Amino acid sequence: MSSIRPIEKLNTTNQVVGHHINGRIFIDDTERSQAVYNPATGQITRRVALAGKATVEKAIAAAAAAYPGWRQTPPAKRARLMFRFKDFLQQHANEIISLLTEEHGKVLDDARGEFTRGLEVVEYACGAPELLKGEHSKDVGPGIDSWSEFHPLGVVAGITPFNFPAMVPLWMYPMAIICGNTFVLKPSEKDPSAPTRIAELLQEAGLPDGVFNVVHGDKEAVDTLLTDSRVQAVSFVGSTPVAEYVYRTGTANGKRVQALGGAKNHAVVMPDADMDNAVNALMGAVYGSCGERCMAISAVVCVGDTVADEMVKKLAARVSRLKIGPGIDSQNEMGPLISKPHYEKVRGYIDSGVAEGAELLVDGRGLTVPRQPEGFFLGGCLFDRVTADMRIYREEIFGPVLCVLRVESLQEAMQLIDEHEYGNGTCIFTRDGGSARYFTDNIKVGMVGVNVPLPVPVACHSFGGWKRSLFGDLSAYGPDAIRFYTRRKTISQRWPADSIEKAQFSFPSTQ
Ligand code: NAD
Repeated sequence: MSSIRPIEKLNTTNQVVGHHINGRIFIDDTERSQAVYNPATGQITRRVALAGKATVEKAIAAAAAAYPGWRQTPPAKRARLMFRFKDFLQQHANEIISLLTEEHGKVLDDARGEFTRGLEVVEYACGAPELLKGEHSKDVGPGIDSWSEFHPLGVVAGITPFNFPAMVPLWMYPMAIICGNTFVLKPSEKDPSAPTRIAELLQEAGLPDGVFNVVHGDKEAVDTLLTDSRVQAVSFVGSTPVAEYVYRTGTANGKRVQALGGAKNHAVVMPDADMDNAVNALMGAVYGSCGERCMAISAVVCVGDTVADEMVKKLAARVSRLKIGPGIDSQNEMGPLISKPHYEKVRGYIDSGVAEGAELLVDGRGLTVPRQPEGFFLGGCLFDRVTADMRIYREEIFGPVLCVLRVESLQEAMQLIDEHEYGNGTCIFTRDGGSARYFTDNIKVGMVGVNVPLPVPVACHSFGGWKRSLFGDLSAYGPDAIRFYTRRKTISQRWPADSIEKAQFSFPSTQ
């Protein structure tokens, strides 16, 4: 393990966020670049390099070269490095949280929450020796012992979305690295600074050069990772169309792929629910992070008109009072959307909801934020009497827009959820254990909450949806990550006695 050594900080002198390859910042001046915005001001703050094929291949080559040494590093040493990385992250928490708010737009408290959930995966990864222990069976036959070992795969790639620029990459590479793999991360080009800064901290914690590399880029970079034969596995998180493309292309090229996609998360409100607590819970779960969370609640299904009438009345009052403005102002509850094109897309959905006949009870389209005329701000929106055929219900909006649907029974609510193409998260608000148990047992969704609106599993469990919210068999982080980032090898061993044994032609068995 090398000692702590200073390395060049995020390159802000020429305002281009560079790649992080083989322990160094790398920028190829002939490469394309793209503007990075502060969504609260609408201004360009810096640019990010967009890797061409050659740059991605350079990162893959660095990871491939680092692999033989890293795979032989004992898990306890890998864990020690994770402990140092965890310390470094904590020491630099405020700096990273500021970068998250500056480039994503989310309010500082929310950025701290994201950062902490990422840190928790690093804490889990510190248990490497325990997590990587094999399985052993003595005397599986006469004088024969058998055991399974979990071997790393080699070079692994991660491709991540804009909405959690620190946490989602941290779901992936700490787990991949403690398993003995080397890694190439392709974070979102929309908010590249936090993942780049975190890569520097991992390097400063003593990670050997080449074990972890970051390339910024777009489809060209992703396609290079998906087709290069040196990349053994790909973890992807992003929208469903791209997740499906990544899954199909990666598996067609012989790779192990897990691809987490989009969502439409429903909350069911039962007649016996604690309404005031449900409203409070929903306000954060719907409008937190401007609705740009894959676990955001975007559809509330009220069982009975009485529940619906009370719910929309209470919600409407709260949504119209949301404090919206730059995320750096701690008074604000909601920041801007990520970009101007995304703002236009979300506005388009609101227009379509009105055109399709949903009742727009709170319209956020007219919002202006003082002193930020260019910011990508949209007010909270609340639709009532949404039906299952409307686009605003069928498609993921990924903005501060809530659809309220009205049904007659829990069964009807569950049928709606089950028939939706996405199955990431859901939640039921009730005081009745029987309804809750029926819901958790039968609903076709991967992560379920009972009076918990954002049932994001903690680091010692694993995160993954069902249906078109996850392509592949294994979820992110937790125990599934150990399985995803390793390959099982089972060894059977026997030490024959000195005497010559007879040849056996029957299939080996315990009979
Ligand atoms: P996105 O799919 O546009 O981008 C994700 C990544 O894929 C980025 O790194 C991007 O550069 C790359 N990419 C984009 N288009 C590509 C293409 N045509 N070919 C190859 N690569 C491409 O997603 P986003 O807008 O950054 O993030 C929001 C989406 O991510 C939402 O749909 C949200 O639900 C989803 N998400 C899902 C989870 C989950 O755990 N299921 C978590 C967070 C976000």
